Amino acid sequence: MPGKFYEAPIDEYLPQNGNRGYRVSRYELDLTYKVTGNRLAGRAEITAVTTAVQPRFALDLSQALTVAKVFVNGAKAAKYTHQRGKLVITPQQRIPAGGVLSLVVQYGGIPRPVRGPWGAVGWEELTEGALVASQPNGAASWFPCDDHPSSKASYRISITTDSPYYALANGTLLRKQVKASQTTWVYEQAEPMATYLATIQIGPYQKHRIVSPANSVPMHAVAPVRLRANFEHDFARQPQMMEVFSERFGPYPFEGYTVVVTDDELEIPIEAQGISIFGANHCDGRRGAERLVAHELAHQWFGNSLTIRQWRDIWLHEGFACYAEWIWSEEAGGPTADQLARAARHNLSRQPQDIAVGDPGPQHMFDDRVYKRGALTLHALRLELGDLGFYDLLREWTIRYRHGSVSTEEFTDLAGHYSRIPLRPLWDSWLVGKPLPQLPPSAA
Ligand SMILES: [Zn+2]
Repeated sequence: MPGKFYEAPIDEYLPQNGNRGYRVSRYELDLTYKVTGNRLAGRAEITAVTTAVQPRFALDLSQALTVAKVFVNGAKAAKYTHQRGKLVITPQQRIPAGGVLSLVVQYGGIPRPVRGPWGAVGWEELTEGALVASQPNGAASWFPCDDHPSSKASYRISITTDSPYYALANGTLLRKQVKASQTTWVYEQAEPMATYLATIQIGPYQKHRIVSPANSVPMHAVAPVRLRANFEHDFARQPQMMEVFSERFGPYPFEGYTVVVTDDELEIPIEAQGISIFGANHCDGRRGAERLVAHELAHQWFGNSLTIRQWRDIWLHEGFACYAEWIWSEEAGGPTADQLARAARHNLSRQPQDIAVGDPGPQHMFDDRVYKRGALTLHALRLELGDLGFYDLLREWTIRYRHGSVSTEEFTDLAGHYSRIPLRPLWDSWLVGKPLPQLPPSAA
């Protein structure tokens, strides 16, 4: 029955990604990386529970990587195939629904990013080192996985690489072991994480702690020494930002927050779980990217802790992160969110109005209009609910769905509890309709 795994896509936006028949609870990745030559060798142990009796189970894995061995529940697999980005494994014995599925995959090769409508995403070689930025479908460029945002699991990531380099992955550093010219770094990510947020960062970096209030979330920078002074200036207000967002959005959802600055320039900064990655160009000593510092930090709540089930709801990540930029500006004494919202609406009014923000289509998922109109939707909601109700709603949202999966419907349902009038017209005009609605009059 070839094609069985492709019949009903998990997500209409990424029909090739995600797999049926099991739920992953944990990934344990043991990776070795040679910086020179960009060579990756890995062993992935995936612990899952089956949700249906199936003769075969599929994982997403790039064809740039070659599979050497596969084990199922300790026994060598009867058979596997690896074609068109799917590693399809046939266990020797049928596994009942609800049974344990433990998959071990040994693989290796020269990883390269996955190319698609959203550019090149995934494992990327740097001038000296590597980075991983996988949104939305780059995870399979470096490990076999069930690549879909609704599939969240805990991780242990062990990365062995050449000793002079710093190697960072998500979560807490459990141990670091130097053996001759190689160093092994072992990280534990206990809170559930979507595949696209899993990351490795390798480069000529040094780590330093960011000075912040004693009881605040621990924050670190992992950056080239040459950028240290610029970093101190450009990210100086990040601790204050953390305080503001923790107050407005509820408690920060992870154990710590690390900002990586690569030695190379990057087109845009990217979020990972507990980590944000900026390019050297975002750290220019002129604080030119502070808007983006706020944006990436906000993703820790909106995107990383609360992760969408379906890519169509991307505004729940990007609209919120964009609105957080405006909240930060307002709180930091810059233009108010209302001023920024009205300016953004004016800009949008001069662009094509052919996107429904609540379902923009895969081509427009990361269109700036989705970000801005998503933020405007929240501003319209804030004007409706008032500041008190609006921020109470945001805090209930992040606490109720902490480390979970979310949908637009869950947000609009919860928001309904904070409103005296039905919000359906607001959602219909901002998220469903394409013509740009007017913002309600300012509260003041
Ligand atoms: Zn974003």
